[in-house]
Amino acid sequence: MTMLDSTATDAAGQVLVTRYQKSVSEYWNNEKAPVNIRLGEVSGTFHHHYGIGEVDWTVLEGDEAGRQERIIRELHRLEGAQAEFLLDQLGPLGAGDRILDAGSGRGGTSFLANLRFGCQVDGVSISQEQVKFANAQAAERGVADQVGFHFRNMLHNEFPADTFQAIWNNESTMYVDLHKLFAEHARVLRPGGRYVTITGCFNDLHGHQPSRAVSQIDAHYICDIHPRSEYFAAMAANGLIPISVVDLTEATIPYWELRAKSEVASGIEDAFLTAYKEGSFHYLMIAADKA
Ligand code: SAM
Repeated sequence: MTMLDSTATDAAGQVLVTRYQKSVSEYWNNEKAPVNIRLGEVSGTFHHHYGIGEVDWTVLEGDEAGRQERIIRELHRLEGAQAEFLLDQLGPLGAGDRILDAGSGRGGTSFLANLRFGCQVDGVSISQEQVKFANAQAAERGVADQVGFHFRNMLHNEFPADTFQAIWNNESTMYVDLHKLFAEHARVLRPGGRYVTITGCFNDLHGHQPSRAVSQIDAHYICDIHPRSEYFAAMAANGLIPISVVDLTEATIPYWELRAKSEVASGIEDAFLTAYKEGSFHYLMIAADKA
């Protein structure tokens, strides 16, 4: 995001520094897409990311009336599986650890992390509405003393150095400059701490610019999908040493095929399917340790 974000300065006390960040904030403040809300209502855990794993295609069978509801439940299950897979990569964590969800959305992955590890979780988002929603959920769930969400910018997150044992970005790196992001993560990660991202990235082997389908995704979400190589270059430059990379592209295609048949389809499904199938776009998990 070098071009869009080039005016960012880490101005103390100012969460939204660039016009671009203000527009992203506004987008998420106003976001009420059924594909996010109706899926979240299935279990009360709200995700703004995609799913992975085999689809149970029997959801398409049987009575027409219940079909859409079954599809929604299945999409939600696959999004939950994606979050659980991310948490599998965070390494051994205990109740005494503190972890950071960078770009935390409505808080879904943070709550699953707290359930699994029992530790303190902080989420940061540049959407005030999301932060309000997620903090209300924390109160409803009775975990507000352990899980807290902050209206903060992950490029200057305001936490002291060496605070977190683990940090993740679940589909939120495409809004920021990776070098600035990883410098900030490296600052607040403890030595030996784990960083994990699940992200879409474009395939440098197809050229130095994103394909048409990837550009359509960028325009749809007002984001700036990075090339695959940039993740590793930016990690290396900031002392984050990759330990594991999993190409989840094949694992996410069935989710998109099912979503395309759903009444909550948002219209971007074909672009994702084209980009993944033509090989111009990957869905990757990258885990790294702080030196
Ligand atoms: N990680 C969440 C999930 O998996 O449900 C939400 C993912 S949503 C696609 C992207 C999130 O990134 C939004 O919550 C947005 O507010 C957040 N975001 C974008 N730029 C940010 C920034 N500079 N600092 C903090 N959060 C940011």
